[in-house]
Amino acid sequence: MKASAFAYARATSVVNALELLVAHGDKAKVLSGGQSLMPAMNLRLISPELIVDIGELAELRGIAVRGDVLIIGALTRHVDLARSPEIAAHAPLLTEAIAHVAHPAIRNRGTLGGSLAHADPASELPACMLALHATIVVRGQAGERRIAAEDFFTGIYETALSAQELLVAVELPLAQKRSAHFFCEFARRHGDYAIAGLAAQATVEGDVFADLRLAFFAVGDRPILARAAKKLVNVAVTPAVLSDASAALAEELDPLDDQQASASMRRHLAKVLLARCVPALLGRTQPGAGGPA
Ligand SMILES: Cc1cc2nc3c(=O)[nH]c(=O)nc-3n(C[C@H](O)[C@H](O)[C@H](O)COP(=O)(O)OP(=O)(O)OC[C@H]3O[C@@H](n4cnc5c(N)ncnc54)[C@H](O)[C@@H]3O)c2cc1C
Repeated sequence: MKASAFAYARATSVVNALELLVAHGDKAKVLSGGQSLMPAMNLRLISPELIVDIGELAELRGIAVRGDVLIIGALTRHVDLARSPEIAAHAPLLTEAIAHVAHPAIRNRGTLGGSLAHADPASELPACMLALHATIVVRGQAGERRIAAEDFFTGIYETALSAQELLVAVELPLAQKRSAHFFCEFARRHGDYAIAGLAAQATVEGDVFADLRLAFFAVGDRPILARAAKKLVNVAVTPAVLSDASAALAEELDPLDDQQASASMRRHLAKVLLARCVPALLGRTQPGAGGPA
């Protein structure tokens, strides 16, 4: 199938893109890498009247460290995230996760901003944003909004973005000494969307978690920062403590049934991921920001 007829405008600046979005309201759609938008249009799941192509806006592309924050432009492609020494040094969770996003051809065009705005609950990068305590930076004609990742994803393909706003950047605190990360997903084939996945970031002191952020994906209508993590922080993690956290996790998750997996299978897989994650994190403290994971 082919997309319905649509008009096309190449934005010349962020201001110009916002003018176009405001003028056309819900009838316009932003185009970044096109790896989710174009398939949805070709399947006629959506039929925008105007495509606003922001792909040439260099100001939205790039990776920089400013002070203790890593700033990633919305148009930064998956392939650039994967190859970035700054990401490897300061947010190695992302380097590991990106290898699981689709296939090379898609990673060559797909962008961080597009992935977050698309908000597929089975996507890897939204969960990484939760685990990494990201701030999502959004711009509209009235100015900038800075939204905590936990508040950004609001449902299946739904976010806090309005149709008249652009996601412009993501800000991440730099990984600290004693930071540790874990990423694992279950998928039918490498590169497929996950059936269940976990992106986690921790601060480990000795054999104890001083902080632990467990972001599960593909087990609900959005990425989920598990409250069960609190049961593992500032305590000796014994098998009983881990079992208690696992039971709490199963209680708080509300996975969906679909043709890939039942809700109970997803809940089970989430518990398996937790059981793998905790010992891996406790045994794998990074010697320092920039050190090996
Ligand atoms: C076969 C296949 C397999 C895939 N597998 C995976 C996978 O395993 N994991 C995964 O995470 N993804 C997967 N993807 C999706 C891929 O990662 C996309 O690149 C990504 O989801 C969207 O990025 P994009 O830049 O292509 O966005 P686009 O397709 O251009 O846009 C996606 C949506 O976001 C909106 N948007 C884009 N940029 C902005 C912005 N800056 N501000 C506001 N709104 C914006 C668009 O209007 C559109 O609604 C797969 C895609 C394909 C085709």
